[in-house]
Amino acid sequence: MGSYLGLAAPAPALAQAPVELIRTGHVPADSLYKLLYVPIEVPAGTREIRVQESYPHQGKNVLNMGIYDPRGHQAGHPRGFRGWSGGAKNEFFINAQAASTGYVPGPVGAGTWHVLLYPSTIEPAGLDWQLRVTLVPGAAGPAFQPTPAPAVANDRPGWYQGDLHLHTLHSDGKRTQQELVDEASAQGLDFLISTEHNTNSANLSWGQYASPKLLIINGEEVTTTAFGHWNALGLDATTLLDWRYAPADSAIASATAQVRALGGLAIINHPFFPDTVNRFRFGVRHFDGIEVWNGRWDARNERALAWWDALLRQGRPTLAVAASDTHTAAPSPNQLGRPRTVVQAGGLSRTGIMQGLRRGRAYLVADRLISLTLTAQAGAATAGLGDTLAVVAVQVIRVAFELRGAPAGTITLRSDLGVLATNPVAASGPTVVRWPLPNAHPRYLRVEVRTPQGAMLALTNPIWVSSPATRRPASKKLIK
Ligand SMILES: [Zn+2]
Ligand SMILES: [Zn+2]
Repeated sequence: MGSYLGLAAPAPALAQAPVELIRTGHVPADSLYKLLYVPIEVPAGTREIRVQESYPHQGKNVLNMGIYDPRGHQAGHPRGFRGWSGGAKNEFFINAQAASTGYVPGPVGAGTWHVLLYPSTIEPAGLDWQLRVTLVPGAAGPAFQPTPAPAVANDRPGWYQGDLHLHTLHSDGKRTQQELVDEASAQGLDFLISTEHNTNSANLSWGQYASPKLLIINGEEVTTTAFGHWNALGLDATTLLDWRYAPADSAIASATAQVRALGGLAIINHPFFPDTVNRFRFGVRHFDGIEVWNGRWDARNERALAWWDALLRQGRPTLAVAASDTHTAAPSPNQLGRPRTVVQAGGLSRTGIMQGLRRGRAYLVADRLISLTLTAQAGAATAGLGDTLAVVAVQVIRVAFELRGAPAGTITLRSDLGVLATNPVAASGPTVVRWPLPNAHPRYLRVEVRTPQGAMLALTNPIWVSSPATRRPASKKLIK
């Protein structure tokens, strides 16, 4: 605690009253998905900006909200990004030290700020909106210091369980960061990937919550609403990916390239969820993988799985991931860690997990109790998940599968040639299966384990097979 005794007393500041600005407008129903920027002139000496949005909430009206400072607000150049709350909030504040969740603290610089309003559903009558902006004068005070999570928790090689898709109060989730982390530890998760909608604000403070037992990796759920959602995984805490483009803008190629340049991965989220809104419309060729399992297993996951399998049949290595997309601790189809992705990594670190995922060294399970191993052997060569097994024409492929912690169900060995084998889950103890494949020449091998009702319990990424029969060129035909 400092003492100011002995210092000259500062001149008393003139008591300045906050300035209040009102902006109003009308969004007609045909302005769905149109970006509306409302300029706000902020004078020098402003300590805090507060924005309150109001519009009729009856029916389906949703007017998403965010803000940019004078450093830049144009699509593709979000240098001035200062926060986004989508439809989850109707007010926020920003000052030098603090901000509402979803928003980025820092100096309230003088110049033209832009509030972004984005209607994602509108009633036929359109909607009238109002912004009440309060500019609070005063000295800025000490600056906010970001505390990003460390990139390394440990350097021990192993299989690590993670949830790759989750939300807190920094977007439309209902938990604080601390509540999410406490629940993750209780669920036995080794890592989390933070994926708030269209903001990196949570990534600036995960260092306060990470621990040697829980790695937290930065991400963002890039959310267009009109054209679908995708996850940028493995980012720097300060990276913010823009979402303001359409498939025809061909901006998606540079956005996903930006993610890969950081060592990260671009994953298509819940491509069929739900069927009409948020349907994925960008080209799959720009992406590293597909979230084939989002929350509780259902028909939309089944469609995503079929889409992924069709890509594998074309010989296109595409990663499959499972994630909860959790928003709340309350009962829901999206419970933290259910499902989860288990990754073989050189260590519990951002780089280790990203490399494991990129190589396809990952399997997907319904809960923390289930684990598995899958290997394939031909002669002296052995391959695990994500590897390629080199086979000469006359060799037998020997597949070994072990499953632990699964309830009653059915195991299937699958390939581009269809289902190659079916076995029951053992009534007690681990299930150990050996499948010799004397005559098959599959392009890939993968395993599914399902309940008697058909719900997914476990799903592996493929082991690829390179044999004289499969060394044919990949089909040029695209899926979409
Ligand atoms: Zn989503
Ligand atoms: Zn999500």
